[in-house]
Amino acid sequence: MAAPYVGRFAPSPTGPLHVGSLLAALASWLDARAVGGAWHLRIEDLDAPRCVPGAAESILDTLAAFGLTHDGPVVWQSQRIAAYEAALAELADHIYPCACSRREIADSSLQGVDGPVYPGTCREGTGGRPARALRVRVHDRAIGFDDRLQGRIAQTLSRDTGDFVVRRADGQFAYQLAVVVDDDALGVTDVVRGADLLDSTPRQIHLQQLLKLPTPRYLHLPVLTNAAGEKLSKQTLAPAVIADQALQVLDRLLEVLGQQPVAPAAPTQRLTQAAEQWDPTRIPARRQLCWKS
Ligand code: GLU
Repeated sequence: MAAPYVGRFAPSPTGPLHVGSLLAALASWLDARAVGGAWHLRIEDLDAPRCVPGAAESILDTLAAFGLTHDGPVVWQSQRIAAYEAALAELADHIYPCACSRREIADSSLQGVDGPVYPGTCREGTGGRPARALRVRVHDRAIGFDDRLQGRIAQTLSRDTGDFVVRRADGQFAYQLAVVVDDDALGVTDVVRGADLLDSTPRQIHLQQLLKLPTPRYLHLPVLTNAAGEKLSKQTLAPAVIADQALQVLDRLLEVLGQQPVAPAAPTQRLTQAAEQWDPTRIPARRQLCWKS
């Protein structure tokens, strides 16, 4: 028998929930609820300088206003440092200290899928320079996966990213490591999130393989853009506005996801019907979609 479905939504509290993240929340919630699965909420508040005071609470309020209920307690990444330290200890044979500055890397590197490809300068030692970040070694074999929406995706990390950071120069654990450790701790079977993270997935699978963790299924949704093709992340809708317009926004998001319309009713009833009708094969298989506000 297949493992029971466990999904999650993992917003970073860098501002109130914008319509692009709401799309990810809604689609992952529907994908879980359609099969009677669990749906967890994790606040990714590791990157303290980017966290905005009050943003996490505002995100929780907005999700509640939409009726996107979660299971279990909210997980806060800032409280999970011991788990990341344990994972780092397990990775001991695969990581090394790096003394390079961003500037040095940018100056000496080719562009990869997500910024400069680390050229491996400190692989054999920092040459006496003080260590800053910790990097994990990558290999030159392709890492691929079948995205439920975007199809086959593969990267060769040695060429596409180079050895990547698992603990930053400021001592903070990197997103790539934290997300892998946390998804495993929650028993996540299905990750539904924006296609802006598609290029991160092979790095996450590399860490799952090194840590001997299962790889979940992935579905990367189109990222919403404005008419100029820019990602909507900087444009925020005030939570009060979102709550007032919940019904209208919900209907528009279902339309963007290619789903059948739902009968006019309170948000909770609309969500129940949307979950019954949920058909992920109707989602446009695109990496970007324009949101006409
Ligand atoms: N915290 C990430 C974000 O808000 C999402 C992480 C994930 O879904 O894996 O962009």
